[in-house]
Amino acid sequence: MIIARSVAELQEAQKTLSGTIGFVPTMGALHKGHHALIQQAKKENDHIIVSIFVNPTQFLEGEDLDAYPRKEEADIKICDLAKVDILFMPTIDAMYEEDELYIAAPARRGYILEGEKRPGHFDGMLQIVMKLLNLSKANNAYFGKKDAQQLALIMQMVKNYFMDVNIIACDIVRDDKGLALSSRNVYMNEEEKARALSLSRALKRATNMIMGGELHAEVIKEEMLKVLQEADKVEYVAIVDRAFNPLDKVEIGNTIILVAAWVGKPRLIDNLWI
Ligand code: AMP
Repeated sequence: MIIARSVAELQEAQKTLSGTIGFVPTMGALHKGHHALIQQAKKENDHIIVSIFVNPTQFLEGEDLDAYPRKEEADIKICDLAKVDILFMPTIDAMYEEDELYIAAPARRGYILEGEKRPGHFDGMLQIVMKLLNLSKANNAYFGKKDAQQLALIMQMVKNYFMDVNIIACDIVRDDKGLALSSRNVYMNEEEKARALSLSRALKRATNMIMGGELHAEVIKEEMLKVLQEADKVEYVAIVDRAFNPLDKVEIGNTIILVAAWVGKPRLIDNLWI
């Protein structure tokens, strides 16, 4: 595996590759969710590039940029064992200059739910993903459904800017109890982790209601909120279509149910695609 820490090193390393390229962008502290993305990319491409970059422009003032878990040595081992071809770990200076041109998230879809709670987050996210997609020269780029709104906005960016890359949506990986894996889970103690299960339980409750024939969004959300009482603070429960328009009634095959809540230190998100 070649580790590239600058754009020049990445470009030099890319000369050794031929065939299709699968790309997995991450912020590191790799877990089984990231690993699943890498495995899927490996199956579908000749070569794999993984990036690890804690992108400062997508963190808001007061968020956990400095405290964000960094596990460089372990991450390198994981990528090496997974037979990643190039691990791109750039410095901030390699990725940004002063007085940059900025991409803006779309006015509606970028400013509801996550975008409402974290205004500006998606602008920074799209800015870095655009840069990384361009640099990787990937045929296929892999993103988790865990960050459903992020995924939708990346797909929109690729469409709106006529970018020549396939965005592949990968299923959410959970631990054996149902907690969606996240680098931020390390902030929680055991008691908090137990309460964090209320997010996946609320989504399971929604599934059961839908399977029982209940399609009214308000009724489902009300029940979910009851399950979510174990969380410290619920930020939102939402039922939207795949284009992130709010739904009054669940549409089978076109619905995402989302939840965001604080449990202890981290703010957790989870969702379910119906
Ligand atoms: P992050 O390092 O948190 O920015 O995540 C990098 C990529 O991994 C994103 O596309 C995430 O959606 C994806 N990802 C994170 N957690 C999971 C998970 N539990 N299951 C599937 N994909 C995930």
